[in-house]
Amino acid sequence: MPRRTVRSTVPKRLVRAAVAARRRAYAPYSKFAVGAAVLAADGTVFTGCNVENASYGLSVCAERVAILTAVAAGRRRLRAATTPCGACRQVMDEFGVETVILAPAGRTPAAVPLRELLPLPFAKRALRGRPRHAGL
Ligand SMILES: [Zn+2]
Repeated sequence: MPRRTVRSTVPKRLVRAAVAARRRAYAPYSKFAVGAAVLAADGTVFTGCNVENASYGLSVCAERVAILTAVAAGRRRLRAATTPCGACRQVMDEFGVETVILAPAGRTPAAVPLRELLPLPFAKRALRGRPRHAGL
């Protein structure tokens, strides 16, 4: 996967915001605190932290918390986000994220197009024209 080092301040800004958000993580089960940040089209940065639940399946990733926070604040066009899991990549596609900032510990953040991480997203257009009870 080709990775590019971005010279703009966006990657560092998002990584810094994500690291700060990580302190608010609620991760009593995994003990794996995660912070995330997304950049809205208007330049606003929204953050999130992972929020776990005793019923593990109800836990929410930091990236989705950041995205949902942005949507709740009226921002539905997002541009960039910090490192997501597969499920969060799908949610990012819904809101137009173009660039994912990969920030391995101790290394320079790199910008990667979401299309490289999720080449064939399940998109809204797939729902058009489908019968209500499609089994296939
Ligand atoms: Zn995730």
